[in-house]
Amino acid sequence: MPIGMIILGRQGSGKGTQALRIAESFGVIHISTGDMLRAAAADGTELGLKAKSIMDSGDLVPDSVINGIVKERLLKEDVLRGGFLLDGFPRTVGQAEALLSYVDEDLQLAVHLYVSIEEVTARMLARGRDDDTAEAITRRLELYETETAPLLDWFTERGILTIVDGGGTESEVFDRLVDAVEEISEK
Ligand code: ADP
Repeated sequence: MPIGMIILGRQGSGKGTQALRIAESFGVIHISTGDMLRAAAADGTELGLKAKSIMDSGDLVPDSVINGIVKERLLKEDVLRGGFLLDGFPRTVGQAEALLSYVDEDLQLAVHLYVSIEEVTARMLARGRDDDTAEAITRRLELYETETAPLLDWFTERGILTIVDGGGTESEVFDRLVDAVEEISEK
């Protein structure tokens, strides 16, 4: 069975970078909702322009919008064949419920890439993306605590959550993630 996994963690935890590397190593399809929304914004589609103003303020795009985008992506041939690594989704309980209704047992692993608030704030200020203003960072981290952190308990109850320490160098973190993914792919 192809790997089906999600990676959860605060903004600035290194999820995106690590997700790309893990996807490449294990041959699964990396699906980043942030990247998809930024691509739509760059294309200037109606959805993209709406999403851009929401992203710039640090708020979340409504579940009704993002759920549809993800569902469509999960149904594409490459994902059905190769499996998926979702990065940036789900971020709310509504998104998690939608995801399980699409993939059910095919979701085998939820990784929590843990990095402290102090450390992620410093990392985001240093990288300086468009939406990495001090206000938007504060707003995104608040939303992470209220909307996304509850999912950690939710996936623990389903018995699929693994916590990985996101501190240290990029390759140290990568090695820890590889171990976590190998554990499920051996099952
Ligand atoms: P970060 O993890 O730093 O927030 P992302 O690239 O994952 O970076 O997301 C950037 C922005 O895109 C978010 O602040 C949010 O506005 C929007 N976004 C991405 N994924 C989702 C999602 N699953 N639900 C709602 N909004 C999302």
